[in-house]
Amino acid sequence: MGYEVLTGPEVEEEKYNFEMMNLPKDHPARDMQDTFYLTNDILMRTQTSPMQARTLEKHDFSQGPLKMISPGIVYRRDTDDPTHSHQFHQVEGLVIDEHITMADLKGTLITMTHEIFGDKFDIRLRPSYFPFTEPSVEVDVTCFNCMGKGCDVCKHTGWIEVLGAGMVHPNVLKMAGVDPDVYGGFAFGLGPDRFAMLQYGVTDIRDFYLNDVRFLNQFDKRSN
Ligand SMILES: [Zn+2]
Repeated sequence: MGYEVLTGPEVEEEKYNFEMMNLPKDHPARDMQDTFYLTNDILMRTQTSPMQARTLEKHDFSQGPLKMISPGIVYRRDTDDPTHSHQFHQVEGLVIDEHITMADLKGTLITMTHEIFGDKFDIRLRPSYFPFTEPSVEVDVTCFNCMGKGCDVCKHTGWIEVLGAGMVHPNVLKMAGVDPDVYGGFAFGLGPDRFAMLQYGVTDIRDFYLNDVRFLNQFDKRSN
């Protein structure tokens, strides 16, 4: 679909991780992301979103729209337990051009869902809040376990929350030097660890990071 895959630094400037993602100092939403600081303005990135700012800042729109995917590891000062880890993965997507609408976002998410899970899976969007998108949505996918009928895995809703998305906030565009009156678009972020836990019935996220070869081998088709 024409996306460029870009990776970025895990040791990141506060400016890209927070300020340019519309999270100024003292913004209450910074509390949502407990951060490992290395110095006053250098940190372990808490999200892959800083790659949005880094890419937007450099993009030359006279050469065409911006379409990027950025996968990588992120870090949070979290107490490790079966569903939380101080490191986990995110995959970020960003599309910016003229005349991009929320319908484009929904169409993209449906296409992605069908490619990853199969044509029988549907999505639904629920209103949400993220500092860097407006409006923002949380995206649910048909529960893979019961195919929508309702079960323990999906808490009997038939849906599982898999990603967050929204239309890029005009402030994010402005701070990267892009005119929000001309250009706009959407962003989405998903957590592959959660996908894998749900799909393979992994009950403890820490298993992914302990490097126990017996655990890891079961996902390696070559060793089966
Ligand atoms: Zn279910």
